[in-house]
Amino acid sequence: MKHVDVLVIGGGIAGAAVAYYLAPTRRVLLVERESGYGYHTSGRSAAEWTACHFDGLMRAIVLYGRPFLDQPPPGFAAVPLLERRGNLMFTVAGGEAVGDAFFAHAAPHNPGLVPYSAAQIHALVPYLRTELVTRAYWDPENCEIDVDALHQGFLRGGRAAGAETCANTEFHGAERVGAVWHARVGAETVLTPVIVNAAGAWGDPVAALCGVPPLGLAPRRRTAFTYDPGFDATGVPVIDEIGSGFYFKSSGPVLMVSPGDQTPSLPCDAQPDEYDLAVAVDQLETLTTLTVGRMKARWAGLRTFTADEHPVAGFDAVVPGFFWLVGQGGGGIMSASGLGDLAARIIAGMALPDAATALGLTVAGLSPARLR
Ligand SMILES: Cc1cc2nc3c(=O)[nH]c(=O)nc-3n(C[C@H](O)[C@H](O)[C@H](O)COP(=O)(O)OP(=O)(O)OC[C@H]3O[C@@H](n4cnc5c(N)ncnc54)[C@H](O)[C@@H]3O)c2cc1C
Repeated sequence: MKHVDVLVIGGGIAGAAVAYYLAPTRRVLLVERESGYGYHTSGRSAAEWTACHFDGLMRAIVLYGRPFLDQPPPGFAAVPLLERRGNLMFTVAGGEAVGDAFFAHAAPHNPGLVPYSAAQIHALVPYLRTELVTRAYWDPENCEIDVDALHQGFLRGGRAAGAETCANTEFHGAERVGAVWHARVGAETVLTPVIVNAAGAWGDPVAALCGVPPLGLAPRRRTAFTYDPGFDATGVPVIDEIGSGFYFKSSGPVLMVSPGDQTPSLPCDAQPDEYDLAVAVDQLETLTTLTVGRMKARWAGLRTFTADEHPVAGFDAVVPGFFWLVGQGGGGIMSASGLGDLAARIIAGMALPDAATALGLTVAGLSPARLR
């Protein structure tokens, strides 16, 4: 039997981050069912950092975690974690009210956000059909995240501080005996006072394996594809249509395109649906002068939401020693450094630092109790 201080279930970016922040002071075991830590949602994102698309709790977490991404500890990653790209958001006929409401709401908190003229759009994205655009805004703060460098940095740094990480290892369930969980992990029994549920779309099923009532997590499928547009797309900013959720951006030298779909799904190995891919192709070919030839890659992933669409990092109010780290929705990569740090502090019983409370972050606000 193995004894640890914290058992983390799930080796996606959320589990890797909390293991990293806990490892210097706690014996941590992280288990991942798949052979690759980024096999599910964390390996299927659009790699965006943005604050202007978020409000309230998620925005505060994203801002709190930003200094780490700008200046990670020495040796964390061999490359910069962020590269500034910018984000053009636009509406088409009928979407003006949505665009105006977005700008009125977001501009006071995002001083860099400015309206953009047709001439500015044309200079930036000459293939966007400006005659269809009715409102446009430019956010210069949007960045590309090196997701692999961030994820591997958390795993490597956690291991260097003593965390054990096991891929190909499934968590099968746990019973609480006194103050200790008896957890069935792979073929082993692990004793631990704390289980961290960082199982992404499987957050509620993992809770059920511990006898913990569900939070009502809702996984939603999002689809994307890449293709070669016939020019070097390196550095193309994120271009999205406010309202539909459709967007495209560079993915290295090619373009990544998504219809912005949000189809409810059971937890699963999500696969792209032909219809969603066809919608994305139609949107791109309608809104730009580009034509999609052969797709280079196509995929789908599950973005998992709580009822209020903000993440949760806190102990279950009913079952002791069970910590929820779920519900990151469409922001689990950009929020991972902030949320992992906050989660580790709450698990260790520490007060949140001034930099967090100054942003309005509180233990109660992050707690799953707000959803019960
Ligand atoms: C198309 C798309 C675009 C996105 N774009 C962005 C973006 O631009 N920026 C951004 O910040 N976010 C983005 N996201 C969201 C982001 O990817 C997620 O919020 C984030 O990856 C969630 O991380 P996670 O670790 O919680 O989940 P996951 O990466 O899914 O990790 C959970 C892990 O738990 C494991 N697990 C489950 N059950 C068990 C068990 N019983 N035993 C062992 N292991 C188990 C799973 O195998 C899985 O690997 C996007 C998502 C998609 C799909």
